Amino acid sequence: MGVLTEPLLSISNLSRHYKSGESLVKALDEVSLDIYPGEFLAVMGQSGSGKSTLMNIMGCLDRADSGTYAVQGRDVLALDSDELACLRRNTFGFIFQRYNLLHTANAEENVEIPAMYAGMPPSMRETRAKHLLGSLGLAERGRHSPSELSGGQQQRVAIARALVNDPMVILADEPTGALDSQSSNDVMLLMKELNDQGRTVILITHEEEVARHARRMIRISDGRIESDTGIDSEGVEIARAREKGSKHSEQSSAATLIAETGESVKTAMRALRANLFRTALTLLGIVIGVAAVIVMLAVGNGSKQNVLDQISSMGTNLLSVRPGAPGIRADNIATLMPSDAAAIAEQIENIAVVVPQRNGSKTLRKGSIDYSGSIEGVGSGFPEARDWTVRVGSFFSDHDVESYAAVAVLGSTVADIFFENGQDPVGQFIQLGNIPFEIIGVMESKGSDPRGRDQDDTVWVPFKTAMGRLFGSNYLNGIVVKVEDVESISQTESAITELLIQRHQTEDFRVRNSASFLEMATSTQNTLTILLGAVAAISLLVGGIGVMNIMLVSVVERTREIGVRMATGARRRDIMMQFNIEAAMVCVIGGIIGVGLGFGAGLLLSVFGVDILFTTMPPLIAFSCAVSTGILFGYLPARKAAHLDPVVALSSE
Ligand code: ADP
Ligand code: MG
Repeated sequence: MGVLTEPLLSISNLSRHYKSGESLVKALDEVSLDIYPGEFLAVMGQSGSGKSTLMNIMGCLDRADSGTYAVQGRDVLALDSDELACLRRNTFGFIFQRYNLLHTANAEENVEIPAMYAGMPPSMRETRAKHLLGSLGLAERGRHSPSELSGGQQQRVAIARALVNDPMVILADEPTGALDSQSSNDVMLLMKELNDQGRTVILITHEEEVARHARRMIRISDGRIESDTGIDSEGVEIARAREKGSKHSEQSSAATLIAETGESVKTAMRALRANLFRTALTLLGIVIGVAAVIVMLAVGNGSKQNVLDQISSMGTNLLSVRPGAPGIRADNIATLMPSDAAAIAEQIENIAVVVPQRNGSKTLRKGSIDYSGSIEGVGSGFPEARDWTVRVGSFFSDHDVESYAAVAVLGSTVADIFFENGQDPVGQFIQLGNIPFEIIGVMESKGSDPRGRDQDDTVWVPFKTAMGRLFGSNYLNGIVVKVEDVESISQTESAITELLIQRHQTEDFRVRNSASFLEMATSTQNTLTILLGAVAAISLLVGGIGVMNIMLVSVVERTREIGVRMATGARRRDIMMQFNIEAAMVCVIGGIIGVGLGFGAGLLLSVFGVDILFTTMPPLIAFSCAVSTGILFGYLPARKAAHLDPVVALSSE
């Protein structure tokens, strides 16, 4: 026999050592071996002799510690992990003892996996998978999941998978080890056929019966080659004659990326469907988080809007003078006098009306009904100042004020307490303290004020009557001033301040305008909204951590799947992308449901009378937070998956 062609696989002085505790296991010890195209080689040896280690190194799943290994003259040890992945999927087809099919995919999809990683277009690889399964007698089984197939059938699916990229070399690690003798025979016939077609077949076995099909036999013991018999050139000729199937060219990068993303989305959907309950629970975290953000902010904004509306409805043209130094609340400091109110009315410009106030509370009594009510002694300009009209009867006049008249105007809440519907209170008497007051009017209902107090739960009397006859004091506890022109309200405010300082010789009062109320209320309400938003954001974060947790568990659980994907040609970034997209999918789906739920819950709340104001920002923010949470929290698990060692991943349980 003359000189053979160049070796296809060339191994020299290759060693692979494992440290186990103190001792060093030499799984491969200075092995040298050349394999030529078209050979059918059986590797035999006892369990633990180093067969699988040799196979994994030949298949580029594992790296040697020393020595050299070349595939078609190319030094493998110099390649990085992506180049190895590429070499793997184009050169080698793996067949494992335990089939290693993905149980979340059906037979056809399993066969397509290596082609998918090689970038073959979907229609092409589907045709190819169908054709291969058909030629292996599984035409009817393409849509079956691996668990619905017998061991022999599963191994034939695995063989179809090994062939889908039309590799030069078939590596089979005890392919018949888990099969009955009939199936075992079928598989061996297939191997022979593949070799007859010109493929190089390397077969590991410990059964002589199986090994007899091979033309060349290597025996290994304790990591060393014991014997090597039957190197032949017969197969080589066939291999030469075999026309290499044209490899499809790699697509342009953008198109590939889109196609890959599409594949990853499909794969992710499959994985999520396979664990529906768990997916639903993980989703729930995100859904609640997103919905919470939307509802909370809608409630916060709604309440803010409500307060602002109420303040505006009270009028933005009011100034309020209260006793006490700025920042100190002291309603009963006896400095604010009716004469101050008169001076303001006389000396200051831009004043529409001045309303002195003397408030307090007394027991209201009529017949057998007692009611502890709040009483506001005010000037006759009160309805004008507050833009508030009388429903029945009339408000008291300046004359009533000056003459200390015992007349009262009821708020609608008070009127409802003492008078039944249809009964006219005007002209009736009510006792405030123990003094009978004639009811001369009832105000329109105005509802709650910004602090939630019922404004209709009040009785109004002339302030002089209140001071002299009800509360026995000569000072006011407030002056409300309505200005004529809102534009110059701040000038009016400083004029009043100046005047009162001049009169009191000290600043023992404070003046506020409704704009400052508005500001104050806005800032309180903003704080509330921020607080609610923060609570919601935390729940979104918790949801994100839930996603990470599940993804980490998922990586551990699917280590073997990752190993299989790597063995069939997945690069690190394919694995990375798969897990990242899975996490992102959970969050996108959760985000969409959460937005829907948030709006639904908000609408429901508004039906029950809660003030709700939807704005565009919260849903956008919540949704993008959810998605970035997914990507962020998916990254770590994805990275962990992508950096698994293929051999370790494959051998995991
Ligand atoms: P075979 O496939 O022939 O049964 P292997 O190649 O799997 O044998 O293993 C060869 C030797 O290397 C055995 O002694 C085994 O215990 C050891 N070995 C294999 N893989 C590992 C590993 N990951 N860590 C430690 N020792 C290992
Ligand atoms: Mg083994």
